Amino acid sequence: MVGSAIVIGGGLAGGAVATRLARAGHGVTVLERETGPHEKVCGEFLSVEACEDLASLGLPPERLGGVPIDRVRVHRGRHTVEARLPFLAHGLSRRVLDEALLETAADAGAEVVRGVRVTGIQGYTVLASDQNRESNAILLATGKHDMRAMPRAAPSTKDGYVGFKMHWRLPAPALAELDRSIDLMLLGTGYAGLQRVGARDANLCLVVQRSQLTRVGGTWEALLADLMPQPAFARLLGSAQPLFAKPLAIANLPYGYVLSGEQDGPEEVWRLGDQAAMTASLSGDGMSVALRSARLAAQGLLQGKTATQFHRQLARHVGPQVRMAMRMQRLSERPIALAAGVLAARLWPGLLTQGAKATRLPSLGVPKAEINRWSTLSLRTH
Ligand SMILES: Cc1cc2nc3c(=O)[nH]c(=O)nc-3n(C[C@H](O)[C@H](O)[C@H](O)COP(=O)(O)OP(=O)(O)OC[C@H]3O[C@@H](n4cnc5c(N)ncnc54)[C@H](O)[C@@H]3O)c2cc1C
Repeated sequence: MVGSAIVIGGGLAGGAVATRLARAGHGVTVLERETGPHEKVCGEFLSVEACEDLASLGLPPERLGGVPIDRVRVHRGRHTVEARLPFLAHGLSRRVLDEALLETAADAGAEVVRGVRVTGIQGYTVLASDQNRESNAILLATGKHDMRAMPRAAPSTKDGYVGFKMHWRLPAPALAELDRSIDLMLLGTGYAGLQRVGARDANLCLVVQRSQLTRVGGTWEALLADLMPQPAFARLLGSAQPLFAKPLAIANLPYGYVLSGEQDGPEEVWRLGDQAAMTASLSGDGMSVALRSARLAAQGLLQGKTATQFHRQLARHVGPQVRMAMRMQRLSERPIALAAGVLAARLWPGLLTQGAKATRLPSLGVPKAEINRWSTLSLRTH
């Protein structure tokens, strides 16, 4: 690598790659448009690979206030199926996590420039709201936000998805019920994920097809009113207090997108995180993919690889996970498959554990025996 690398976007992928490059002694500048800590649309479920990656950066989630999660409950109407997760996960607010990662990058020696919006890339020049910068190693880590004239592939369905996030202050009974659990409510047109992200608070992440949102009235309030009669919603959120004035929302999510590297030009920028691959959020593995892309990109840059070589390596690495997660997300939206799946999981809750295992990334360190040990633990349905 010649000169200093420029990372556009100081989210998970950007903060992680900057930390790794700076620790290896390379100059790196991160340009982040937000001026300080901020929320992001996300379920905030950190799977085992993400936890492991963060620990390798010196940021184990428990040290940041992450809440342990080792079971999953799936609700469909009045039915609930529960299983142990085949690993220990954590719930942690992105506001806390992303900020800690950027601080780690700065501590490692990266230059972190806040409040600067990148407006475009021309060859080796990054055009930004404060000044233009030159580098032959430009890393694009703007997450769900595409750079002008550099879009990713179109959304995976004609309908498109809308994602919402809201934090809630929970009353004691709901807090106790959610202890160590990620609760998934399957809606047939999407899902809701609810989990604790702090001592008293929980995150609700809702992903629905746009047509479903329109059908119920087009607003967050209408969507919540439509879901609240469901027993799990009523029980867990009926007396909870929303903590944001309005939810965060994002539309046109290109689920299933994996950059192959085949179309890359000679001056290709390195795409990381959601800019390189976007897995089904139902799998709770997007942050693992982002962190893994950062690890492989840093290795690749330091070894003198090209962006295209890195994109191909990443596609081989995360492609199978993304395809498997997309199959599961699509199945959860087909009425017959969903009904059959819930019935099968009630008879054999180990199916949920197997599903959680099937969408994991290839391990870079977690012993398989540890994952398998968890999958044999007790299960129950009601
Ligand atoms: C509805 C939903 C639920 C999800 N739930 C989960 C989950 O539970 N678990 C999980 O592991 N993953 C989940 N994900 C996926 C996860 O949120 C993403 O994969 C992850 O945030 C990607 O990280 P990133 O670094 O690529 O982007 P981000 O973390 O989004 O960071 C991008 C950064 O770039 C900055 N930026 C953007 N544009 C510019 C610009 N022009 N100039 C400068 N800076 C810019 C932004 O401010 C931001 O800080 C979910 C995704 C969605 C949509």
